[in-house]
Amino acid sequence: MTNYYNDDTIIFLDGRFVKAGEAKTDLYGQTLHYGYGVFEGIRAYDTVNGTKIFRPHDHYERLKRSCSLMGIPFHFGVEELVQITYQVVEKNKFRNAYVRPLVYCSPNMALTSPNEVSLMIAAWECEQHPDIHPERVCISSFQRPNPKAVTMEAKVCGLYVNSILATQEAKKRGFDDGLLLDMHGFVAEGPGANFFYEKDGVIYTPPAGSILPGITRDTVISICRELEIPVEETLFRPEDLYEADSAFFSSTMLEIVGIESIEGQPFRKKWKGSLSAHIQETYRCIVLDKSYSYVIV
Ligand code: PMP
Repeated sequence: MTNYYNDDTIIFLDGRFVKAGEAKTDLYGQTLHYGYGVFEGIRAYDTVNGTKIFRPHDHYERLKRSCSLMGIPFHFGVEELVQITYQVVEKNKFRNAYVRPLVYCSPNMALTSPNEVSLMIAAWECEQHPDIHPERVCISSFQRPNPKAVTMEAKVCGLYVNSILATQEAKKRGFDDGLLLDMHGFVAEGPGANFFYEKDGVIYTPPAGSILPGITRDTVISICRELEIPVEETLFRPEDLYEADSAFFSSTMLEIVGIESIEGQPFRKKWKGSLSAHIQETYRCIVLDKSYSYVIV
């Protein structure tokens, strides 16, 4: 997709609602040159109760935490940010949309702290649920960065260079996506999503440390607890996946995406009927405010 806006699209920029095509930015900022900025990815859904943004407070808490971890001054309050986001979605008459808040820094070519920051909140329409077939995934030759280099808990622009390199490599090798390991060889996450696998009725996912602890990941863990599916946050290696029953990626944009195989090795269960597929269905109900079944069949 390349058409993120048209002549009528409205964004929020520095306290005002403006046309996306008329918005301007400075070319001498630290975000553009050094990747020193933070952002979020949020979803709005056309639910049975009208357009609803999913877990907006949690996304903006994370945005504020990312700013504070990076030393970026940012003074908006969470509730204010949620209200602005609803306005962006409403002004554009979107029903199902992806929302992209970006905090970027004022002109400063030095490596010192920024004086001023800008906030942009843009949105574009998307499918209610992404229609993605279970993916063929490879183990990336790119590792997730050392958490002592940049706090991995922050959603920092520059960290996505690593994600782009891993995605490019996976596509070049003929795979849909890559799975990145941490600096010690443990499974970490996808380029833009968290990773889970199912084995013998238990769901496993890597702990915080070398991953972005996703809000979707957190929802998945809550779903597992509610459905009484044991879930363990633990370190594991790629070899541990060969005996797995199923696996999936989780992210705000992709929701739950099934994984068909890793390095060509398929999982023991078909996607349909796996615990992972059940979690996917439940997630789709929750984001749409629909009730869901607690019974696993
Ligand atoms: N890891 C990375 C590297 C990501 O970019 C994302 C997407 N934001 C996630 C995990 C999933 O996070 P969330 O569920 O909050 O979208």
